Amino acid sequence: MLSPVTDTDGAPFWEYARRGELRVQACASCGEPRFPPRPCCPHCQSFDSDWRGVSGQGRVWSYVVPHPPLLPGYAEQAPYNVVVVELAEAPRVRLVGNVVAEAGARLDSVSPERIRIGARVQAVFGPDGLPRWVLERS
Ligand code: ZN
Repeated sequence: MLSPVTDTDGAPFWEYARRGELRVQACASCGEPRFPPRPCCPHCQSFDSDWRGVSGQGRVWSYVVPHPPLLPGYAEQAPYNVVVVELAEAPRVRLVGNVVAEAGARLDSVSPERIRIGARVQAVFGPDGLPRWVLERS
């Protein structure tokens, strides 16, 4: 499986994720959250930022089911879903991930047919420190 490639701006995101915390970079001047992490606020051009904790609640904004050819580590788990999740507290922040049955579960633990655009999801963190998503019962 692929591991995150971190840079200076994005490193805090992954450090919090390893601790099971979902945080997004936000402008310390105007408060606007932004993703991916970067030095300058696109709204007010401030270079001041902080890392705001969020609930991990969101909705499926879009999704795909990848088809072969897939990298070997992923091919053995196909078919699986890849989702884009819009965060409840920061609708302009959208994170790419997978819907799984529970933290640490395989990528194929939820059938792609169960994924719907708009479905409520909650972030979970497995041992690899990558944020993934579980469907909320509603
Ligand atoms: Zn700003």
